[in-house]
Amino acid sequence: MMMSFGLREENRALLQRVSDMIRDEIMPLEDEYQAEINKGDRWQYTARQAEILEGLKAQAKAAGLWNFWLTDSSKGFGLTTVEYAYLAEEMGKTPLGAEIFNCSAPDTGNMEVFERYGTKKMKEQWLAPLLDGQIRSAYLMTEPDVASSDATNVAMSCVRDGDDYVLNGEKWWSSGAGDPRCKVYIVMVKTGGDEQPKHKRQSMIVVPADAPGIEILRPMQVYGHDDAPHGHMHIRFTDVRVPAENILLGEGRGFEIAQGRLGPGRIHHCMRAIGQAESALEQMCKRSMQREAFGKKLAQLGANFDIIAECRMEIEMARLLCLKAAWYMDQGDARAAAPWISQIKVVAPRVALKVIDEAVQMFGGQGVSQDTPLATAWTHVRTLRLADGPDAVHRRQVARAELKKHTQEKV
Ligand SMILES: Cc1cc2nc3c(=O)[nH]c(=O)nc-3n(C[C@H](O)[C@H](O)[C@H](O)COP(=O)(O)OP(=O)(O)OC[C@H]3O[C@@H](n4cnc5c(N)ncnc54)[C@H](O)[C@@H]3O)c2cc1C
Repeated sequence: MMMSFGLREENRALLQRVSDMIRDEIMPLEDEYQAEINKGDRWQYTARQAEILEGLKAQAKAAGLWNFWLTDSSKGFGLTTVEYAYLAEEMGKTPLGAEIFNCSAPDTGNMEVFERYGTKKMKEQWLAPLLDGQIRSAYLMTEPDVASSDATNVAMSCVRDGDDYVLNGEKWWSSGAGDPRCKVYIVMVKTGGDEQPKHKRQSMIVVPADAPGIEILRPMQVYGHDDAPHGHMHIRFTDVRVPAENILLGEGRGFEIAQGRLGPGRIHHCMRAIGQAESALEQMCKRSMQREAFGKKLAQLGANFDIIAECRMEIEMARLLCLKAAWYMDQGDARAAAPWISQIKVVAPRVALKVIDEAVQMFGGQGVSQDTPLATAWTHVRTLRLADGPDAVHRRQVARAELKKHTQEKV
């Protein structure tokens, strides 16, 4: 079968325009934007912070650079997942990149869920403002009290009471729920008991972020950083009541929806991580030619030549694997694509972490400081080895597919 990892002619200019906007308009404002976060209440936007963010979003929207992730939809650009992957790589090069083009996690996955499984009312109430970039959303699956890498453990109680469902329990690591613009949650809950088959016990339900009974307990910190104003929140639900029509597809359909939601999101995360690796390699190369020690440029000392070469080769391998996984997704068989997505979900963060770490080393003390984006990039990519499934769970998927291929045995 012929595999194509390229961009169609008509989409090459699009990639260039995104890349130009990131370099010329977004990156020059990053430092000022980050500095604004530390002024006053870190969980609210300062006037200047909002001006930068909304100004850049308006600019992108006016230029038609908006919602690229709607890959197979008539509303979007009709990009393939392979084509979108190139854009995601560019957007990964700067922390603001994805949001400026309305392509950030977890909103893209949530919008996809609303688009595919939402009722007309949900589309009007939530999908329309999300597509427009007016509000943000969060996806709440992980719970403090159960091993959530196995989603059959999800235990938040969701009980039918007349025309409503009533939710009780706790979620944590709810990314984006700290943002004052976050107005809606898609929540994985338990609706079925032991009498139901294992993968029919969980459901997804839509909950407005301001529903009575919702309490944000605290922001979780990543290596000491709270990631404000986005945040990864620990949230308690006490008798939170939502109309029964808020359940997506019906009771017991949570896994079906989760599979559809997480596949593309993982590819996007991986390509953004590759973008971060590219950016780190560029910084490493520039630094190694600017600075001298022992009478030579850093690049010419010790193993630094080899380190630069190894980083380049690993990035290329990771990108090709990511494009192959994206290509499998484009063939429309999620089951066949799954082991490829799992492979890249392990490989991309690993490679990006290695490259960023080598860049940190080349920068010396400054590499771990606030004076380069490298330290933050490292902590961000490190979390990707957990978020959307820890490495071990993805390796399990890869091994199961491999064993089945060679032995026809299901393990
Ligand atoms: C920054 C960040 C953002 C996040 N954002 C979100 C979000 O927006 N929404 C959300 O719902 N969740 C989010 N998460 C949570 C993330 O998805 C979970 O942490 C992850 O799924 C693992 O679940 P757990 O933490 O309960 O770990 P556990 O399930 O307890 O697993 C812990 C460890 O056990 C081992 N393990 C588990 N299964 C296997 C296996 N099959 N084989 C071998 N070893 C295994 C692995 O080493 C694994 O890392 C986020 C996490 C982080 C760090």
